[in-house]
Amino acid sequence: MRWKGGRKSGNFEDRRGMSSGGKLALGGIGGIIILVVGLLFGGDPQELLQQMQTTDMQQSSGPVETSAEENELVEFAQVIHTSTGDVWRAVFRSEGLEFRSDTLVVYWDRTPTDGCGMGAAAYGPFYCPADEKVYIDLSFNNELKERFGATGEFAMAYVLAHEVGHHVQKLTGAMDKVNSMRGRLSEREYNKLTVKLELQADFYAGIWAHHANKMSDVYLEFDDIIEGMKAAEAVGDDRLQMQTQGKVVPEAFTHGTSEQRAYWFKKGYDTGDIRQGDTFNDPSLQ
Ligand SMILES: [Zn+2]
Repeated sequence: MRWKGGRKSGNFEDRRGMSSGGKLALGGIGGIIILVVGLLFGGDPQELLQQMQTTDMQQSSGPVETSAEENELVEFAQVIHTSTGDVWRAVFRSEGLEFRSDTLVVYWDRTPTDGCGMGAAAYGPFYCPADEKVYIDLSFNNELKERFGATGEFAMAYVLAHEVGHHVQKLTGAMDKVNSMRGRLSEREYNKLTVKLELQADFYAGIWAHHANKMSDVYLEFDDIIEGMKAAEAVGDDRLQMQTQGKVVPEAFTHGTSEQRAYWFKKGYDTGDIRQGDTFNDPSLQ
């Protein structure tokens, strides 16, 4: 993949070296995405939340020391994020719609969100629908490699594009629809709905990959797509459950199996057509 020198949009906040006060106030629509993403790590989100809730944070801002390696990663994230915005703006326009940009936030350790509580590295990258920002602690890049075995630059690009996919779902209303069912369905049924939302975000990551070469400054090669599929497989519910619990519990799936995730990413890439991504009515997911 080629990305160096690519355009970087202004929809970016560098919060490295900053931390600020505020107690966790989880609730509403933001909660889902954070909790869902927490599961990506196989940890117990409730436990994480309790830890967060008991923490009061202090304002602190001193000189920030960043490594060259990390700075490069930040640049990478910015260029990829800008590329997703370029693609989605064009895709929306071709549908007669207007795309509203999300903002990328890079932070260390933890950071407050506007409406989704305290963001923490332990959740992995996440999207907060209330403030329309994608949050990423870049230590996740190592996690991808070491814990999930997803190597290569594109794995991180896939994760970012997946989060931006959630922003697209906020704009299309899919996220609100799923959220409105919360509490009205059994946990098992609600999980099934969440799987559909997540697989659609994977599909949207594939849509971005399909159009990136023509519509943005990022150039992808076929090997990148293979890497993307491997990354999608690495974070499948079945594989993560097997790793963390030694067994697979399909009722508890929230993101989809490795096979499903790779399938929907690839489908987005192959078709480049957002109409092909109606995971909510797909016969294979009923
Ligand atoms: Zn997701």
